[in-house]
Amino acid sequence: MTHILVIGAGIVGSFASMILAREGHRVTVLDRDQVGAVAPQSRQGVKQYGQTHILMPGGARILDRETPHAVRRILDAGGRSHDMLAGVWAAGTVGPRRPGDEQYETYAARRPVLEAALQGAAANTDGVTLRAGSRVRALLTGEPRVHGRPHVTGVVTDDGTRIEADLVVDASGRRTELPAMLERLGAVPQELREETGFRYYSRFFRADGRGLPVSRYWPLTHHDSVSVITAPGDGDHWSVTLVTSGRDQALRPLSDPDVWDAVLALYPEAAHWGDGVPDGDVRVMAGTGTTHRRWVSDGEPAVTGLVAIGDAHMTLNPQFGMGMTAGLGQAQTLRDVVRRTGLGDPADLVLALDADLEEQFWPIWLDGDTWNRHRLAEIDAEIRGESYSTDDPAWALRTALDTAVTLDADVVRGYGLVASQLASAEEALIKPGLVQRVVELSTGRPRYASGAPDRARLLQTVGRPA
Ligand SMILES: Cc1cc2nc3c(=O)[nH]c(=O)nc-3n(C[C@H](O)[C@H](O)[C@H](O)COP(=O)(O)OP(=O)(O)OC[C@H]3O[C@@H](n4cnc5c(N)ncnc54)[C@H](O)[C@@H]3O)c2cc1C
Repeated sequence: MTHILVIGAGIVGSFASMILAREGHRVTVLDRDQVGAVAPQSRQGVKQYGQTHILMPGGARILDRETPHAVRRILDAGGRSHDMLAGVWAAGTVGPRRPGDEQYETYAARRPVLEAALQGAAANTDGVTLRAGSRVRALLTGEPRVHGRPHVTGVVTDDGTRIEADLVVDASGRRTELPAMLERLGAVPQELREETGFRYYSRFFRADGRGLPVSRYWPLTHHDSVSVITAPGDGDHWSVTLVTSGRDQALRPLSDPDVWDAVLALYPEAAHWGDGVPDGDVRVMAGTGTTHRRWVSDGEPAVTGLVAIGDAHMTLNPQFGMGMTAGLGQAQTLRDVVRRTGLGDPADLVLALDADLEEQFWPIWLDGDTWNRHRLAEIDAEIRGESYSTDDPAWALRTALDTAVTLDADVVRGYGLVASQLASAEEALIKPGLVQRVVELSTGRPRYASGAPDRARLLQTVGRPA
């Protein structure tokens, strides 16, 4: 029986282990942390563990199809079905929910709950062995399969245990240590990075007598210098995140809970999400630049015997909440490629996986990278007191869509499909006349929702008048 070693029992590694074991492989999953416990505080290996997370409906549908037993665990642990467009139907401006709109439903649960459910399901899957507290510190190599390129045959953990495998899967997240290990062996990835990133100021809440907050039209909205994320959780929990540019020093006082509360109260659509019992202070996360890594060069594998999925393959802008769903999709792609090519020709496997990942996920990364650059430039302009302009039609369409989204039933559903990761922008907006309608609806309307603070008001509120 073939042996696959998955490094990292996060969302993606745990899921990958289950669907690979179902193919008849023996799968060992290693994680450097103790896993399986629902502890909403930080974890050494996963910097963003205590941050707001939403599983997009696209990811929920993957779990429904592939691992319904993991879904049952999410629901048993207090996860709730949540309609991402509930706020739109409740507002009544684009008509009622229709049959078919159930596709916009997801499972609302805090990240530790989702992760514990997937780890628990993996640990109970025939053919999967989960070893917690095992950090990979070196790679084992064998006879090269491609001239001059290392061939990985296993790993060494920090207690010196050697584990051999037919394939090593790097699912060890955005701070994966494997690229450095591989580079020491002479394997150089093709790597793209956007370094600045955004800064996340999150607070978690539990319901008091006022119950759960009413949904907004979408959990993410953009405003002058700040984006706001409102994320429903399991049981009576939820979280709210204020996102700034990583370069925006003036808004750093948002790490103070009183300042954070005062700023949230400025956003009419989101202020009521602060009406609960805060669970701890403001959690700040920075250094969220994005990375895209390919282990091929000059049409040949840079390494064989090892592939990467999830954040170890590419990280997306966290504010769109797409990372987990993209990683689940990449695990499916790996499973499909392994099914097709087998493990007998390691070079073929690396090239086939690279081609499929590029086709399916590179456009998502590139689209996100384009958005990030524009948004950071937009905030830079706002810091200078200017308004941002660019000739890029992609940015014009994205901002027009933000403006038009709540004004038309077809537009909101198209927007929902893309943002839920149920369809690509091309697939969702292909309906005749839809792009035209977005442009018409947004023309003459302000860039940001009315009533939200401008930068001067924000600076006043954080105690740094302009
Ligand atoms: C602020 C923030 C907010 C986000 N919000 C969302 C959201 O709302 N929705 C969404 O879908 N995504 C979100 N994301 C992205 C999401 O967190 C990631 O895409 C997702 O966690 C990737 O899962 P993964 O399994 O690839 O990696 P991880 O979840 O990082 O798991 C990696 C695992 O590998 C282990 N590990 C690391 N190194 C080693 C080693 N050497 N040996 C053994 N084990 C090791 C770690 O302990 C960890 O358990 C957010 C990210 C950030 C930064």
